[in-house]
Amino acid sequence: MRAGNFVAAFALLALVLLPPHLHGVWVESLPAVRSEPPAQARRYWQELIACTGVRPKRGRGFASIQWHRVAGRQFARPDTGRDVIGLWLRPGNAVVLAGEWWDDPRLIKHEMLHVLLQTGSHEGAHFAAGRGQACGLFPG
Ligand SMILES: [Zn+2]
Repeated sequence: MRAGNFVAAFALLALVLLPPHLHGVWVESLPAVRSEPPAQARRYWQELIACTGVRPKRGRGFASIQWHRVAGRQFARPDTGRDVIGLWLRPGNAVVLAGEWWDDPRLIKHEMLHVLLQTGSHEGAHFAAGRGQACGLFPG
């Protein structure tokens, strides 16, 4: 391999290995397909608000959610590599769900609670086991 080719190949490799959050393109780094919301998601959204008492933040209502689907039962988080079945991403207010869980109300409500709270954290009462189960979502 000529030196020029080697440098080009190395630069390409660095681009691939750079952690996705440094690109600021989280969803784009997943094999995710932009989709319409799950069939019952709007009803779950209303139920979630009624149960938690958390109102959506301005500009972050149901219509602002960008839904994405990744085929399979789980997928690796771009930042940690950890396997997950769902993910909320602040950029684009994106909810990413594994295809096999696409219609599961517990997962949909879990990710939509991240949307309502606008945080990826599971700290606090809303994601606690008892409260989560009472509102029909996977606890944090
Ligand atoms: Zn979560």
